[in-house]
Amino acid sequence: MFCKNCGKEMNDNQAICLSCGVKTGEGTSFCQNCGNPVAPGAEVCLSCGVAVKNAVNSQYLNGKDKITVALICFFLGGLGIHNFMLGETKKGIIKIVASLCVGLGGILALIDFIKILCDKYVVDQNALF
Ligand SMILES: [Zn+2]
Ligand SMILES: [Zn+2]
Repeated sequence: MFCKNCGKEMNDNQAICLSCGVKTGEGTSFCQNCGNPVAPGAEVCLSCGVAVKNAVNSQYLNGKDKITVALICFFLGGLGIHNFMLGETKKGIIKIVASLCVGLGGILALIDFIKILCDKYVVDQNALF
């Protein structure tokens, strides 16, 4: 893949671009797939046809709609429903157990809810919380 800010080639597992220091996936100047410059506001790369616009946002929450996930988290989060939606089975089960045993599922869900709204929620299917 390529840095979307400066167009330099980078490894898939790099968190930031070593050339310009911008986080992986941020920037709209270059195609992450082929590294060619893309026109400002273009939705697809004209060189390879891959979608470029808002690629970061479409990956957020595994591409699920943020408002939908936030609402489900708010109303059903204590049962981990939003976690199951995102494929985070372990987190979901922990929430159910926490709700049934100590009533803490709602607090965990509230934390998730705030993170979702602040664009800080990280989908991690191996994490427990
Ligand atoms: Zn860069
Ligand atoms: Zn391309």
